[in-house]
Order: sequence, then structure tokens, then C-alpha cells
Amino acid sequence: MRPEDFFRPDILAASAYHVPDATGFIKLDAMENPYDWPPEMVEAWLDHLRRAHPNRYPDPQAPALKQALRRHAQVPEGMEILLGNGSDEIIQILLMALVGRNHATVLAPQPTFVMYQEIARWLNLDFVGVPLQADFGLDRAAMLEAIARHRPEIIFLAYPNNPTGNLFDAALMEEIIRRTPGLVVVDEAYAPFAQATFMDRLETFDNLLVMRTLSKLGLAGLRLGFLTGRPEWLRHFDKLRLPYNINILTQLSAEFALDHAEVFERQTAAIRAERDRLFQALSLLPGVQAFPSAANFILLQVPGAGKVFEALKRRGILVKNLSPAGGPLSDCLRVTVGTPEENQAFLDALRTVLLRQI
Ligand code: PMP
Repeated sequence: MRPEDFFRPDILAASAYHVPDATGFIKLDAMENPYDWPPEMVEAWLDHLRRAHPNRYPDPQAPALKQALRRHAQVPEGMEILLGNGSDEIIQILLMALVGRNHATVLAPQPTFVMYQEIARWLNLDFVGVPLQADFGLDRAAMLEAIARHRPEIIFLAYPNNPTGNLFDAALMEEIIRRTPGLVVVDEAYAPFAQATFMDRLETFDNLLVMRTLSKLGLAGLRLGFLTGRPEWLRHFDKLRLPYNINILTQLSAEFALDHAEVFERQTAAIRAERDRLFQALSLLPGVQAFPSAANFILLQVPGAGKVFEALKRRGILVKNLSPAGGPLSDCLRVTVGTPEENQAFLDALRTVLLRQI
């Protein structure tokens, strides 16, 4: 059999997820924490890793790590935790559970995090995207109508939303949770920057799951996401998880990092302050519309965004160009909040590029 006969036509036609080479760039494209760990913490961490036994499989349940996450995220008593190799893997586990049903639908507002739709597509599940309003808020009538019509098994709500950066109206989200027959997964990837959460509503709604990740906190390279919710749901999702999905180095490193939470609290506070400064500065630039953000990035609309993106790149600055997505994201760039120096370099370059364009 040839690959052409083996793969589905949509897989043959697709391109692989592309991550640009960022060597030498000021990297403001992937919502990473720009701060390294303090040198003395790195020393203690490497020391901590000495207890790893690479010849042994990791503990598939990682109880110590789960305990640390429970404290860190203030997971309510009685709720279970499921670990994923990044929250990407958790999305895959959630959707894998729907494969083989006679018919299954995944619903999310749009634009939102692309993986919900991507994974649904590879698993052959129906995906319904409900357009957000012009201000990127949820469209109540459209959401309720789509829920009644499609009766989705799973709804994803990113809170705050990526790439728009805003928090949806919490009362409306509660209404959606109440009105949907299926599960609602509130994806709180940007929780460290938002100071808003649905974690404390897990006890109220029996069809709510809350997903988190340590990526944006500053552990993107370790790949650790987690899902929290009622044991009666998580027990079954856990069967679909690969037993050793969280390797020993990630388990030990994440436990260590959560033991030094104050370091990340300082870093995320600095990022939040810089986000607000960056937003103010962007709002003053003629022709630029910056959208308010509760996350560690800012969406901005700027005429000729594709050209601006290339010009920034020539000046050594890498942001995310969203304009190819079109629709409400045409002429949009997404910039991750970096260090004060990185943000200043971005602002200076953007100002120069825009002046040249006029
Ligand atoms: N959810 C949202 C809303 C995101 O923006 C991202 C990362 N861009 C993720 C989940 C995935 O994060 P990770 O797999 O690193 O945990």
C-alpha cells in the first residue's frame, strides 16, 4: 500500500503544525514566560533531579505531583485530577472518548484555540464553531441556538480566550453550562494572568470540567497540563490516558517548581504589569487597535498586518501573524508579553514600521 492509499485525503492535503525557527529572535509568538529561573533555583532543581531513576517507568498516577497541583490550583475537595502531556493531550483524551459513537459534536466559539477543532478533525468528529461578537464576547443567542440545534457532547470555552485575550461573561457561561446537555470544558490555560476561575463552580455544575496547564506559568518545556472535575467523569477519561504519559523528569521538576511558587508569582505579577503597560502604549499608536487582555498576550489589529509582521521579523522580532486566518482576525497580530526590554524593542520596532508605512 502506498501512503496515498493509506492516509485520508484530508490528512494528505494538510500541512504539519508549523513552529517557526526563533533562533536569534526576540520571541514573542508563543505565550511563554520570558523569565529564566534564578541561578540558585536551577542548582537546587538539578540536585532534586538526582532522585530520578531513568531505568524505571514513572509513577502512572503521580500522587505527590497531584497533591501539589491540588494546593496550587485550589482544586475543591472531592474533585479528581487527570494529568496530560500538556493540555493539548487532555483535549485529545477528551475527544478520543467520543470516537466510534454514532454521531458526536464538539462546539466552541470562534475564533478560539485551534486545537479543539484540529483534534476533532483528525478524530472525525463534527465541529461547530459559533462566531463571537465583534467585541469578542460570546453571542448568547447564537450559542444557545447552536446548543439546542446540535446538542454537542462537549463545549470548549477558553477563559481567557486565545487569541482574543478576553474573559467571557461568567453569568453567560453559567447559563451555557446549565443549558447544554453535554460537558463544558473551561480551559483556563491563562489562569496565572486572569485572576478569574471556574474552579470554585465545579461543585455547582455536574457537567463542568476545568482544564489548566503549567505552560504559561513558566514550564512550557516540561509539558504538564491537568484536568479537574468529578471522579465519575475523570475515572473514565483516565482509561484513555497512556499510563506513562508524564515522564519522571517532568514529575520531579513540576513538584520542585510548585514548591517554589513564590518565584512564579513574582514573574507572573511582572508579566501582568507589563501587559497593562504594553496595552496602554499600543493604544496610543495611530492606526493600531489593541484589544484588552486578561492573559499574557495582546491581540492587535493593524492595517497591513502581514507586511508589519514581516517588517518586525526583519528587525529581529517574532510575533504571531493571525491575518491568514481571515474573518475577524484579518489584519491581526498577537504579541506575547515579554520582559520590559523585549516589549520596548517590540514597541520601538512597531512604531518605526508604522511610520515608514505612512
Ligand atoms: N489552551 C489554550 C487556550 C491555549 O492557548 C494553549 C496553548 N497555546 C493550550 C491550551 C495548550 O497548552 P499546553 O499544551 O502547553 O498545556
